[in-house]
Order: sequence, then structure tokens, then C-alpha cells
Amino acid sequence: MNKNELFRKIPKVDVLMSRPELAEAIEKYGKEPVVGILRHALEELRKKLNEDPKEEILTGFLENLENRVLQKVESHKEANLKHVVNATGVILHTNLGRAPLPPIALEKLMEQMKGYMNLEYNLSEGKRGERYSHFEELLCHLTGAEAAMAVNNNAAAALLMVSAVGDGKEVIVSRGEQIEIGGKFRIPDIIDQSGCTRIEVGTTNKTRLEDYEEAITEETGALLKVHTSNYKLIGFTQSVERDELCALAKKTGIPVMEDLGSGVLIDLSRYGLRKEPTVQESIAAGVDVVCFSGDKLLGGPQAGILVGKKEWIAKCKKHPLTRAMRIDKCTAAMLETVLSMYEDEEYAVKNIPVLSRMTESPEKLKVKAESLAYRFEKEMPEGVTVGVVNTETPIGGGSLPGEMLKSYAVTVGKAGMNAEETAAKLREGELPIIVRVMEEQLLFDLRTMYEEEFDAVVDVVKEVLRG
Ligand SMILES: *Cc1c(COP(=O)(O)O)cnc(C)c1O
Repeated sequence: MNKNELFRKIPKVDVLMSRPELAEAIEKYGKEPVVGILRHALEELRKKLNEDPKEEILTGFLENLENRVLQKVESHKEANLKHVVNATGVILHTNLGRAPLPPIALEKLMEQMKGYMNLEYNLSEGKRGERYSHFEELLCHLTGAEAAMAVNNNAAAALLMVSAVGDGKEVIVSRGEQIEIGGKFRIPDIIDQSGCTRIEVGTTNKTRLEDYEEAITEETGALLKVHTSNYKLIGFTQSVERDELCALAKKTGIPVMEDLGSGVLIDLSRYGLRKEPTVQESIAAGVDVVCFSGDKLLGGPQAGILVGKKEWIAKCKKHPLTRAMRIDKCTAAMLETVLSMYEDEEYAVKNIPVLSRMTESPEKLKVKAESLAYRFEKEMPEGVTVGVVNTETPIGGGSLPGEMLKSYAVTVGKAGMNAEETAAKLREGELPIIVRVMEEQLLFDLRTMYEEEFDAVVDVVKEVLRG
């Protein structure tokens, strides 16, 4: 067969598109990506036939065509955002999406998001409602506050709080609490952005009640307390306790705001962890507005939650920034479900992943580590050594600084292996695995790994170490 005849035998794109598998792919992914990949494949075929005009090449190509196109379309359409295995042991890993969400809440979310919903619709009155109404009562019930709302994240909540409560006046803050909360966002910047005047009192290591007292003038709009949740000041230090600050505020009639950072709703010391101030304690002490993150120790969706006295929360709700920072319906729904899980602490600790991971005992993690190590040993190629070691990992996400959780990790090593390169390969597959490397060994920390992931992890690691 000559070249021209061979070229004439190449089917037209329209004809190929009507083949059942490809028609199905078009239905599923749309015409453009499928046809694009098909055209590209035909171009390559023409090039090949031009160089080597053999009929076998054409028939072989046509036989394999559907599979090749389908594979390419599928990988082209695979989302960039995907599930990864977190084997670092860091529970609130900001780069890995911080808090993993409770499966119970996700199932519910699917139902809630499919069609329309009563996001801002009051069903009993048949008119406009408020998007916070679905979880406001719950937040008040859980924290003891009079009113509540939520915005996109806690950085936004802090800015809104200072803007609305400070109201362009002077805001007094201790020099020991001028923290950076990450992403170049700093407390002094927030105060400056709010349009209030920043009045710094005390020194880096010591601030006394008199420092606040002396700074209060006619121009004072509010006092700001910031929980230094992402670092720890030790040594010759002094700061003003929340109670004292609230007493001073009460005496002078000036509101107190507090940025709690990783707001917890349960007493962590009950679980052998270091005590973090709870939101309830801030409210009980008399703080007027408290803001905290939804996706740190709370274990919910990314959000900035504001709770406090009715008067001040009402001001926050009315502030123009609120519209620019408002949460979407997924967040509102997820917040409601996660908060409702806190009605029973035992249930929350069991079913909210951040809490269940944090409170899992080292003994249990050791058993899991041994079970993973056993599977690795059984499946790994020749020359791979597997072990179980003690580890200590931070909680992450700027929560509980200095607090290390005792855990166990499985180590995997191989003579001559470049551990960093192997770790990079583990990140590149269809199921990326993020590991730590220590002394040329790969570390799989059980604090953040799920047993359901073990099979897939063993398969991926086996493949990578074989190659
Ligand atoms: C983490 C943190 C924030 C920022 O919270 P995001 O939810 O990450 O925006 C603000 N203030 C403090 C004290 C924090 O620890």
C-alpha cells in the first residue's frame, strides 16, 4: 500500500468520536478535551506513517486508540487538588489543608449542597434570614456568649473585630503580644489596617496592669489581648491576666477584645495535653469579643469565629468589612455540623479527626506502627530494612507551641538509597505520600496516618523502592 492510500485509510475525527467508548467520554468530560487529545494522537500517527508507511502501524494504532485517548483524558481531567497521605505526624499541617474534616459532616454536606438551601432564608417566616443563624445559638450554648458570627478565617475575624469594636479610636495592646500570625500578617498591621491608632504598652517580656491603666485616655476605643498561641515567652516575663484586664475594662467602660488564635472548646489537660485557654474561659472572664480559628484546634472548616456580647457582635455584623469576608454556604453548613458535634465532648473527641488524632495514646500508635511495619516487611523488595521508632511531633498550625506529642513511626531504608530523592518520588504519584526524612531513612509517622491508607501506602512505597 502506498503512502497516500495509507493516509486515506485514517478515519475522520467525527467517525472516531462516535465510537461508543469515546462518545461516552465526551458525555462525561465534554467534547473539547476528548477531541483535542484525539486530534493530537492522529497527528502523531501521520508523522509516524510519513517516516515509516506500514499498514501494521495504522492497524495497531486504531486497535489501541480508545484506551490511549481515555487514559490521557482521565489523567488530564484529574484534579490538581487531591487526597495526600500525611505521614509527617503534624496534625494541623497548614500546607496540607490543616484540619481534616469529619466524614459524618462531609456526608451531610453532599446532601446540603446538591440543590438549593435555606442559607439566608427564614423558613418559619418565609423571608430573608441570616447565614449565621444556623450556628449562632450553638456557639452561644457552647461558649456562654450572647451572640456569634463567622467570617472567612481568623485573620479576617481579627481585622473585623478591631475595626468594628475599636471604631477608629485608640487600641491598646501589649508589646509582648505583637505577634505575626503567618503569611506576613502581624497584629500591629491588623490594628493599622483597621484605621485605629495603635498604642503599645509594656515591653517585649513584661507588661503590667499599670501600663494599660496609664495608657487609657478619652481616645481609647478598646483593649486588645492576643493569645500568643504560636510561640512561648519564657524566663523573666510578665503579662496581664485576662481577669485583671477585664476588671480594668469594666471599671473604665472600655471593651476588651481577644484574639485567641486556635480556639479550643474543650479542656485539653483532661487528655494529658497542655492546657490551652478555652473560649468559654474568655467569655466567663468578661471579654467583650473573642475571635478564633475554625480549622485549628476546633477541627472544622477554615473560618474565623467571633463570639461575645450582643452589642459588639451586632456592630461586627453591620460593619462593611463583613460583606467582604463572609463565609460561603459550604463553610456555614460544615460549621453547624462540627459545632453540633461538641454538644457531647466524648462524641467530639471520638469523631472530629483533629481531636481524635491529638488524643490517641502512644500505646495505640505503637500497635498501628507495628502493623504497618509488618506489612512493609512482608512486601518490600530485597535489601529494604524496616523498623519502628519513637518520635515526637508538634501539633502544628501555630497551636500549642513547644508541646510535642509522643508518637511512633515506621522507618524504611535501603543501602545506597538517597532518602530525599525517594521522598520526592513518593510525592509525585497518583497518591502522593508526604514523609519526613531522618538519617537517610523514610519516616512514616502514625499520628497522622489512617489504617485505611495502609494498603495503598505499601503499594506505592514498594513500587518506588523497586525502581
Ligand atoms: C492562627 C492565628 C490567626 C490566624 O488565623 P487563620 O484562621 O489562620 O486566619 C490569628 N491570630 C492568632 C493568635 C493565631 O494563632
